[in-house]
Amino acid sequence: MRTGQINVQTENIFPIIKKFLYSDHEIFLRELVSNAVDASQKLKFFAKNGEFKGELGNLAVEVILNKDEKTLTIRDNGIGMTADEIDKYINQIAFSGAEEFVQKYKGKEGAENIIGHFGLGFYSAFMVAEKVQIKTKSFVDGAQAVQWESNGSPEFTITEIEKESRGTDIVLYIAEDSIEFLEKARIQEILSKYCKFLPVPVIFGTKKEYIDSPEGEKDEDGKIKRVAVDVENQVNNTTPAWTKAPIDLKDEDYKSFYRELYPMTFESPLFHIHLNVDYPFNLTGILYFPKIKENVEVQRNKINLYSNQVFITDSVENIVPEFLTLLHGVIDSPDIPLNVSRSYLQSDGNVKKISAHITKKVADKLAEMFKKDRADFESKWDDLQVFVQYGTLSEEKFAEKAKSFSLVKSTDGKYYTIDEYKEKIAALQTDKDGKTVILYTNNAEMQYGFVKKANERGYDVLSFESPLTPHWISKMEQTYENITFARVDADTLDKLIKKEEEIPSKLTKEDEDKLKPVFENSLVEKEKYTVQFESMSASESPIMVTQPEFIRRMMEQQRMGGGGFYGAFPEHYTIVVNSNHDKINNVLKASEEDQSRKAKQLIDLALLSQGLLKGEALDSFIERSIELV
Ligand code: ADP
Repeated sequence: MRTGQINVQTENIFPIIKKFLYSDHEIFLRELVSNAVDASQKLKFFAKNGEFKGELGNLAVEVILNKDEKTLTIRDNGIGMTADEIDKYINQIAFSGAEEFVQKYKGKEGAENIIGHFGLGFYSAFMVAEKVQIKTKSFVDGAQAVQWESNGSPEFTITEIEKESRGTDIVLYIAEDSIEFLEKARIQEILSKYCKFLPVPVIFGTKKEYIDSPEGEKDEDGKIKRVAVDVENQVNNTTPAWTKAPIDLKDEDYKSFYRELYPMTFESPLFHIHLNVDYPFNLTGILYFPKIKENVEVQRNKINLYSNQVFITDSVENIVPEFLTLLHGVIDSPDIPLNVSRSYLQSDGNVKKISAHITKKVADKLAEMFKKDRADFESKWDDLQVFVQYGTLSEEKFAEKAKSFSLVKSTDGKYYTIDEYKEKIAALQTDKDGKTVILYTNNAEMQYGFVKKANERGYDVLSFESPLTPHWISKMEQTYENITFARVDADTLDKLIKKEEEIPSKLTKEDEDKLKPVFENSLVEKEKYTVQFESMSASESPIMVTQPEFIRRMMEQQRMGGGGFYGAFPEHYTIVVNSNHDKINNVLKASEEDQSRKAKQLIDLALLSQGLLKGEALDSFIERSIELV
């Protein structure tokens, strides 16, 4: 036996490791299992190139829990280490990572969030263990097995031991404050999280499996009995779909891999993209398009980031553009630096290239689908539009490509690209200034009357359901020349699409001055409305309640956050009185008492059709209407 000092300047590094990595203690297991997997892979490599001529045997990593002894062992039958190698890899080199980390972050506020994934490797064992032993025997012929032991001070001992089998046991004597890691369920949870797709089998205890009775026992119905047997509990799938070639996978394989990734999700994805790049960076993965309707947030943060099949994180927000975080699936890249802060990631060259690549792939896939089978693409559009709009709003490169497949849907159910739509409506819906006015509704039921009136004039109305509509509309108005959007209830049709000809008014200026206070006094919440007269065709409604497009957009953008305006916009509507309507003429001619009653009834009906008649106003409307009967 000999003792020695781990090559480190700091007196005792472990209290610091513990403190800083507190929130992420569980990653010790990822680090140790990854090392064991590496050791197994290296041996496979040596066997291939002839450096190792013995039996490979069944290469697997075992995680063994012994609650009585309070130990957790990670066992592999990989390359193992000689005493010299322990000196080199454990006592000298491995510690440099930890050392560097401590020097860098010692005493710094907020270091916790920087080092979430700082790979401390082997030494992360000391986050949870008060003593660690390495029992190892190298694969080299005639190697002497050795045991290394340290209790977390820079001192260690090395002893020669008896060990039959090749490979390494890392034995952790779990510390008092970490006994959670002696619980089977906790270990299973960590293994499922980080080790689910490691390339070498990882075994953790046994599990029950039901098989036909080997003795041929039968139940009452004469059927062979099913009996429970203990089988090895392998926690991982060593060849997940993204590691395979796309030509070897069927649609069903992609679907079942989706279920493997998200066992708790019942919705199927719309479609997928298989990523496979090896130059100028390494990237594989499968991205799935989920069906996205209203609840954007629920869909977020489902992409899992892997590095050589080792799970790293499920928060990829600094690695892919924000709109892509709506996608699901896996990205695996050894080229994404992990030992750096999240904010630094964004400026990393590789990360930028990867982001750009994924964005392009996604846009290309959508363009290709649109071209190949438009009907199918249209059938998916309602579930896709939020994603496409999000991308259009946040990534210029994506926006440029999205022009070719971004669709709008008419209230009659037909789909168009903006270019197609512009051409379709240009003849009728271009105003006297040459602007093509796109009418839309965000609630065809509530705005039924407005849509109907527009259709009667031969105007088309689009149906927008996406919560991003207000922002997206502004973007389209900037992108395309000479188009403008107007919600169908924003104003009267004559105002929304202004034509050359003016309709003469039946009311004189004096008539209007006389009527205006009559209508104003008929309103219960006067401050919410402005009354104004307009010379419309007699076939329009006598009174309309509109909300100016500008004010409504500001309010919507404000509600969604952003828009750049401070202070709240008060709710405000315009009561538009059609000066050519017979009923308005009736009000003018009526007696004073009758005037007010008629005005009230007309206004209330207009408010009612917009869902704006509430409380006291609604009650008095009902009373008055009963009177009339
Ligand atoms: P890293 O894995 O990043 O190199 P570690 O601290 O995890 O850093 O490990 C240091 C080195 O110790 C490894 O590179 C490897 O050479 C050796 N090592 C660690 N665990 C094992 C193991 N189970 N079998 C063989 N060698 C190992």
